[in-house]
Amino acid sequence: MISAIVSHHFSGTYVEARNKFLTAASDRGATIESFPLPGYRGALDEELAIDVACLGARDASQLLILSSGTHGPEGFCGSGCQVAALHDDDLLGFLERSGIRLVMIHGINPYGFSHIQRNNQDNVDLNRNHIDFAKPLPANPAYAVVDPLALPATWPPTQDDDRAMAAYLEQYGVSAYHAALASGQYHQPDGMFYGGREPTWNNRTVRTILRRYCTGAQHIGWIDVHTGLGPNGHGEKIYAGRVSTADLAIARSWWGADVFAPFEGQSESPEVSGPVVSTVYDECPQAAVGLIALEIGTLPFQEILFHLRASQWLVRHPELPASVQRDIRRRLLDAYYCDNDAWKGAVWAQARTALVQALSGLAKASLA
Ligand SMILES: [Zn+2]
Repeated sequence: MISAIVSHHFSGTYVEARNKFLTAASDRGATIESFPLPGYRGALDEELAIDVACLGARDASQLLILSSGTHGPEGFCGSGCQVAALHDDDLLGFLERSGIRLVMIHGINPYGFSHIQRNNQDNVDLNRNHIDFAKPLPANPAYAVVDPLALPATWPPTQDDDRAMAAYLEQYGVSAYHAALASGQYHQPDGMFYGGREPTWNNRTVRTILRRYCTGAQHIGWIDVHTGLGPNGHGEKIYAGRVSTADLAIARSWWGADVFAPFEGQSESPEVSGPVVSTVYDECPQAAVGLIALEIGTLPFQEILFHLRASQWLVRHPELPASVQRDIRRRLLDAYYCDNDAWKGAVWAQARTALVQALSGLAKASLA
């Protein structure tokens, strides 16, 4: 049963995931560097860090990035994929023969990974933080309307709160609600999908990693693993790059016509401002880039959103009893990570396919 074989790559805590990743990378002889998060500890009082493992020649002109944990609890899925890849002789054999460099970035949001919350230590959604802060902040006036509906005065929502939400949805529709809530906002620091007011430590660290390990490449592929959108166990390939038909064409030539582009209005994901992967355009301007977020489905989106609202309510109300906090975090983890063999088997099968496709695309690019 292939799923049971796959499951041991995945972990139940951030500490376990980090150890598995570092051990597997070390066993492969990877170049490893860790960037500890200053001033914070994990849920088990462990060190928190973004870890990087690199395989292949430093001067390779083709390079593939596989990253995990941009959104805290989604790291359990992405980390499992990274560890599985490090244990995959066939995949790494292909990598070696084709001369492609592999850069794995583990736990982009280690605080959220360990403490089980989507946002980072500053309540910043990292996929809304990679904007140009020298320019005026993106406006999202609709967020102020939906904030008190999503995060009412008491939790769980009362019947009156549910009625207010229903009235809003009746008037504006679910799509408008999701766009208002999730496209990113820059004015409510304890709110949902908050993009911050400056580049976060995570943002600056990812840029350092790109400058240190990726600036020599002429072609770069990037797969950022996420969970929580789409049917259970299905991987939706979401184009996460800049609005460019040429760049989207690269992604589709590698990963197929079913790469969805939010700017074409086809994806489960709303158009968002400032995803992590957009750093590659700033830091590696020399490279042609193919990138996707691989979004693995877990629960129906409304259920996930409910647990996400509870988690955000917790950020706003840290005085809640420890038992209630644990319960909210546990449910959020269950919403983003399906801890069973079948789901993990489906995850790795699709992530591995995406990796092989990217490697094939990069190998062809080297011949062009
Ligand atoms: Zn995500």
